[in-house]
Order: sequence, then structure tokens, then C-alpha cells
Amino acid sequence: MATSKREEATVMSELFADRAAIGTESRLAQLFGGQLGPDGIKFSAGNPNPDLFPTAQMQNAFNTAIDTAGNHLFEYQEVAGPVHLRQQLANRVHQTAGINATADNVLVTQGGQQAIDLVAKLLLDTGDEVAVETPTYVGALASFDQYGPTYLDVPMEDDGMDVDALTSLLKTHPNIKLVYTVPDFHNPTGVTMSVAKRKRLVELAEEYHFYILEDTPYRDLRYHGHSLPAIKSFDRHGRVIFISSFSKILMPGLRTGWVVADEMVINKLRQLKETSDLESPAIMLHAVSAFLDNNDLNQHVANMLTTYRNRLDAMLNALTEFMPDTVKFTRPDGGFFVWLTLPENVDTQALLQDVVMPQAHISYVPGQVFFAHQNVHNGLRLNFSGVDEQQITAGIQRLATALTENTVK
Ligand code: PMP
Repeated sequence: MATSKREEATVMSELFADRAAIGTESRLAQLFGGQLGPDGIKFSAGNPNPDLFPTAQMQNAFNTAIDTAGNHLFEYQEVAGPVHLRQQLANRVHQTAGINATADNVLVTQGGQQAIDLVAKLLLDTGDEVAVETPTYVGALASFDQYGPTYLDVPMEDDGMDVDALTSLLKTHPNIKLVYTVPDFHNPTGVTMSVAKRKRLVELAEEYHFYILEDTPYRDLRYHGHSLPAIKSFDRHGRVIFISSFSKILMPGLRTGWVVADEMVINKLRQLKETSDLESPAIMLHAVSAFLDNNDLNQHVANMLTTYRNRLDAMLNALTEFMPDTVKFTRPDGGFFVWLTLPENVDTQALLQDVVMPQAHISYVPGQVFFAHQNVHNGLRLNFSGVDEQQITAGIQRLATALTENTVK
């Protein structure tokens, strides 16, 4: 008897491994990707502004890479990435984050996302306990999900994760293996962890014997105040695995990120990377390396900061002016995102679909997806990096009107 495509798919998907059935699709599928129409304003993106990409300089860097290495560039090369690039990255984390590292402490990965996945693969067996900020970066949860951990929630405060709450949690759960944090201009809240908390976190990792995964792709995008030392800079006993990326400060399409950790950890991560992709495309890594040799990355970042600072300020001003008092919002000093907390009875997913998109032609990311247990419904993430100031002001006003009229009088 003939079977329908759907029945066939159901039968064949029974062959998929358990991990293919774990929540990944639903988590990432909930990130907004729909159409808004001509007067739509999209606060749901998470992307850098493509107008700020150094495309001409990068084109030169690709040419330089090919001119310099010739055919060799297109052969198989080192899994960890070219030693010159690893040295450049070791120098950069020293200069910008206070981390002492050599090229042997660096593994170049395909974006921060691959780095997160490799760390999860290295550390997590089914049921292992992972403490995560609530909310946290959805892509990390999607990676962790694959390894079947048990999540433990740590609340966020205005100066980063609630380290007192983590301390209490460790007393009842002393086997926590991994604490995942986005300490600088956190995705999705925009919050930055204080120096005191960074130090305490390292002390806790020593006392309770766990790894800290410090994921910090936004760290150089600070629009107000001074840069803080990385958590990794306080690490004396190899407890911190540091991840960053060129996605936000150069271009996400380069798919170039890196890990800084103890050599023992780097060697293991390198083996895991090899089993997954043999190596990142050498042309990409040599081009990035040539870009760093021939351009001033700090100057490039400084030029971007003005645009993003104006957008952040426009968003905070508009939120202050237009939002009802019942809506709380974070006041980030950098990054791409502001987080709104609505009254507890509001479900921001339903609100988006029923009111905000059809009536106000605005999109945001409903907050539920950023919670490990998807149990908080009244938060939402706004992106300001991809929207110009006029649109931000107009968009926040429209959003505030929709909220005031419908839910949060
Ligand atoms: N970590 C965080 C906190 C992020 O926001 C992102 C991207 N949105 C990533 C990691 C991964 O980015 P990429 O793989 O492009 O470096």
C-alpha cells in the first residue's frame, strides 16, 4: 500500500538518535524570522550592521592570503588554525581582556557557536548538571540540549548573574560541572557582570571544582564606561574556558571564533573539532590573519562604536519617554540588546502574534526561548544594532502604544 510522504517521514525519523528529538528545533524555531511589511520595524534581529563591514579591506586580505601562500592555502592544514593567527589572538586577549596566553592556549573555531558545542561535547554526559543564567543565550542552550544535561537556573541581576544564588545552589548541588555565562553585554539582557562577581565566580570554581564557560562575543562593543577584565584573567588553576568571536566586531560570515584555555583542554577540543570538520577553511583563517596584520582592528571597532552608541542611547531615551511604568527595562553599556520585563500575567509570545505584529508592525524576540526551562513568559528582547535612530524612536513609540492599549495599562 502506498504511504504518504508524512507517514514515510514518521517511520524514518524513528531511526534518528535520541538527541535529534531533543528541544533544539523548538528553541531555535521560536526565534522570529517572519515578514513585517513595508512599514515594519524589526527589533528581533541579532545581527551586526552590514553597512559597517570592512568589505574592501577584507577583499584585500583574501588576496594577500592567496598571494602569500599560493597552492598551499588550499591544502589540508592545521586543525587548531595557523600558528600566526593563534599568536595574534593570544596577543589580542592579553591586550583587550587581561588574559595571559600563548598560541598553544588558543583553538580557532568556526564561530563561537562551534566552540560552545565542542566544550559541551567535551564536558557533558547525560544528566550532568549545568548552571545557566536565566535568561541566557539560546544557541548555547540548543547546543547543550544535545548532550542531555540537567539545567540549574541562576537568576540575573543588574550586575550579572546572582552569585549568592549560585553559592546556595552549589551547597545543594556540589556536582555542578559547568557554569555558563555571558559576562559582557549579555545576550539577551545586555547586562554586564561586575568585577567582584567575576572574582567570586573563579573562587567558587576552585572551591567546588567546576568549569566556567565565559562566552563573550560582545566584549569589545562597549559604548559607555570602561572595559572590565575577563573572568579568565582571574583564573589561576585552569577553571575558565574563554570563547570569543569575530562575528560582531568584523563579520559573522567569516565564521571565525576562538577558545582560550589550558593546553590540556585545548588539545582535547582540537581532537573533537577534528572529528567534526577536520579543520576550518584555511583561506578564511589566513585572510583574517592578513586583515589583522594590515589593518587596525581597534580603530575599526572604535569607528563602529559611534553608530551603535547612538542607537543604544536612542532606544533607552525612547523607552524612558514612552513605556508605561509597569514595563521594566535594562540599561546596557554595550552589545546589541535591551531586555524588557512586562507584568507577570503577560505572555510576550501571544502578545507578539496577536497584537504587536498585526497592529504595530513591530517584531521582538519573546523571552521564553532564552530560559532553560522555558518557564518565564513576560520578558522580551529588543535589538538596537540593526535599526537606525529614527526607526528606533518611532518603533518604541508604536510598541509602547500597543502595550499600553492591550495589556499593561
Ligand atoms: N555567544 C553569544 C552570546 C552570541 O550571542 C552568539 C551569536 N549571536 C554566539 C555565541 C555565536 O556567534 P558566532 O558563532 O557567530 O561567533
